[in-house]
Amino acid sequence: NSLNFSGGPGALPESVLQQVQQAIIAVPEVGLSVLGISHRSDWFAAVVAELERNIRSLLGLPDSYHVLLLQGGATQQFSMVPMTLLHGATAPADYLHTGYWSGKVLAEARREGPIRTLWSGQDSGFTRLPDDGELAFAADAPYLHYVSNETVEGLQFQRVLGRDDVPRVCDMSSDFLSKPCEAERFALIYAHAQKNIGPAGVTVVLVRDEVLAHAPDDLPGFLDYRSHVKAHSNFNTPPVFAIYVVLLVTRWLLNEVGGLHNMAARNAAKAELLYGVLDASDGYYRGRARVQDRSSMNVSFNLATPALEQQFLAEATAAGLSGLGGHRSVGGLRASLYNGLTLPAVEVLAGFMDDFRRKHA
Ligand code: PLP
Repeated sequence: NSLNFSGGPGALPESVLQQVQQAIIAVPEVGLSVLGISHRSDWFAAVVAELERNIRSLLGLPDSYHVLLLQGGATQQFSMVPMTLLHGATAPADYLHTGYWSGKVLAEARREGPIRTLWSGQDSGFTRLPDDGELAFAADAPYLHYVSNETVEGLQFQRVLGRDDVPRVCDMSSDFLSKPCEAERFALIYAHAQKNIGPAGVTVVLVRDEVLAHAPDDLPGFLDYRSHVKAHSNFNTPPVFAIYVVLLVTRWLLNEVGGLHNMAARNAAKAELLYGVLDASDGYYRGRARVQDRSSMNVSFNLATPALEQQFLAEATAAGLSGLGGHRSVGGLRASLYNGLTLPAVEVLAGFMDDFRRKHA
């Protein structure tokens, strides 16, 4: 089998994959394939309830938050957030433009109401994140939106941004449950599953109850968070399979990994190893991100020429290292180190990179 360094969907833990394999044949307690169990069954209600409990326990999330399991990917949240929170606003919401994905977020938000780009990394080619001195957060903004980890460029905030009196909204799609995140400091967090916690098909939304009180009443039911709260994430047919896999990953995080502090330590060790290879290469491997903004999830880098990068990809694929091409918008190379990817897998990549450099330098 190849090792999966793809930007998404990412690798899942081996023990989870084994349980999934069994569940596709038959979930032991039910005697049916997980692909054919009704979303109205008691079993599925228990899956949703346990998953919600596990997420609360991993994050220490207070009861004042709803845990929702939605469809439409993170992309649907780019619209649902402003549809809900920008309703009737006179002052603009603050948005940060730190890379490819926050650019997509901005384009959708602009359709819904007044927004302001508080900071943009466009001039620096999205190679760094803003310093505190560059951010003048508006006190009257209806909310602040940012992306905690820019998956394409490999930039990750190492701190919570914004003012405590303005609701924070964050797209955590590519680092959710990879480390503790101070969830209670955010009004709304969204993250699709397919990086760190499962397959595509489900998006986790954590939302503080009070922010839903001012939602407009004329939203389509499917786009109104309150419909999903009322229906316990069973408003229409949910992706039972994807939700079940996310449950298995949260059990793995709790019982095998031992919580998010341990997960963070594992992820930090993987990232340290790989950035170490970049830093010890005398500029042969060129990291994209400014050092203090480096992501522990996505290591984006370049070689001297696109031709050499193609050579790298060809040899990596032949060596069983998959998914190392950079995102189509920026090219180059990228190694994604999501929760399910092991340290030994990163050691294999590090060894390959050292060998490749010696061979081609
Ligand atoms: N936000 C981030 C940070 C992402 O990395 C991605 C995709 O990789 C998206 C949003 C879009 O997610 P989706 O394809 O689930 O809509």
